[in-house]
Amino acid sequence: LWPQRPSSRSKWRRPTTNPRRSVCAELYLRPKIDLLTAKNRAEPIIAEVRQEGDAALAKLAKRFDGAELSKDDLIIEVASAPWPKVEPKVAESLDAAYENVRRFHAAQKKPPLRVETMPGVECRRIAVPIEAVGLYVPGGTAVLPSTAYMLATPAKLAGCKEIVLATPPRADGSICPEVIYAAKRAGATKILKAGGAQAIAAMAFGTKSCPKVHKITGPGNQYVTAAKMMLQANDEAAVSIDMPAGPSEQLCIFDATSDPAFVVADLLSQAEHGPDSQVVGVFVNPSGDAHGYMGRLREEFEQQTSKLSRREITKQALSKSFVIVVKSLDAAMSFSNGYGPEHLVVQAANPEAYLEKVVNAGSVFMGAYAPESCGDYASGTNHCLPTSGYARQFGGVSTDTYIKYVTVQKLTAAGLKRVGPHVEVIADVEELEAHRNAVTIRLAKIGRELSWL
Ligand code: NAD
Repeated sequence: LWPQRPSSRSKWRRPTTNPRRSVCAELYLRPKIDLLTAKNRAEPIIAEVRQEGDAALAKLAKRFDGAELSKDDLIIEVASAPWPKVEPKVAESLDAAYENVRRFHAAQKKPPLRVETMPGVECRRIAVPIEAVGLYVPGGTAVLPSTAYMLATPAKLAGCKEIVLATPPRADGSICPEVIYAAKRAGATKILKAGGAQAIAAMAFGTKSCPKVHKITGPGNQYVTAAKMMLQANDEAAVSIDMPAGPSEQLCIFDATSDPAFVVADLLSQAEHGPDSQVVGVFVNPSGDAHGYMGRLREEFEQQTSKLSRREITKQALSKSFVIVVKSLDAAMSFSNGYGPEHLVVQAANPEAYLEKVVNAGSVFMGAYAPESCGDYASGTNHCLPTSGYARQFGGVSTDTYIKYVTVQKLTAAGLKRVGPHVEVIADVEELEAHRNAVTIRLAKIGRELSWL
């Protein structure tokens, strides 16, 4: 995408028309992240927190965040903490964004399910919140109050009792006031002043000041992701995670009716995230003559990028990005579904026709007036989404992320008479005699006939 051809090691492509399957497979690969090195770095940090608890957290805050914290100053009790001083216009926007997120996530709660599968055999499903959850709000290179309300709002709505939000302390040992504001508004119970692998380890194992949690959600850098993946596989920690989350990405589908300024603005909004971010343009161009439009697109890239304060980061991301030209809606969606983008922006005419064909995507932004930034902050959808192609098997964070569904069954004697004989037969096939007996013993007492029912 970037006009100056970057180094030969990066994934520069000339605009390609309807790429072949083998080319597509290569284009679906994301910029490589060295997760093995991150795991090797995270491992001793996790062990240190496991052994020394709060003392390790204080030491690591000094080492990685330059913050002097005592063992007693690692946790903020959110309910009793005063509302932090935040500019009124910032508070107003955070409140408006929170309210949209709250409304959309409240509507996701499902009523209990009750089905009589046979007369006298009743099955139910009830939603039970995960008691204690840990939310990671990144804070190394940017402050992210939006991630605080994106993670805490659904946890609170789900009914989680303990909602621990971990975020790196600033060099003076404090937490950014906007993050505290968002955490308090959305209902977090505690803020842990810790970042990186140490924050994940503290929440997974628990320390004297940080409660142990049962599930950890939220994005973060490679050390955070490595720690989440390692602790998920650690029996002692017995913790689950939302999803592996890597660098952000966007795929934008556009056609000759799309405003090139809008297309470029959307792609850049994602490219500025970090040097490892990737953006992909898919130009639907049945006529095959892409030259004029692509020229205007390049001009927009140059103009808009040069004005960005994060232009150096943006250029690095663009050097790992590409645009392809396809001849039809079907070809565009086939490519998009193969790539499985975290964010899918559809700026082409008739976006609903594209939506019908979405199979793999984290969140979809439809039409010229739905920039991705609205979903990042305030429309109401969640911005914690699967990256690196994990949209093939994961959805983004939602109220369900914080809920377990417990199933229940209740059988009457008549119900047991109906279903019990089938259970006996299947238990015989599996040679599980005690399973069969649990039914046979009852049927012997109540009789097998259904005549009196
Ligand atoms: P972060 O909070 O994830 O990481 C900062 C912490 O990393 C530090 O506190 C420190 O403990 C640890 N650390 C730093 N250097 C280390 C080292 N050499 N060894 C061990 N630990 C070290 O913040 P970040 O670094 O700014 O990264 C945030 C990431 O989250 C970015 O990649 C961004 O793209 C991503 N993000 C994703 C989403 C999403 O929804 N997918 C949203 C927001 C941010």
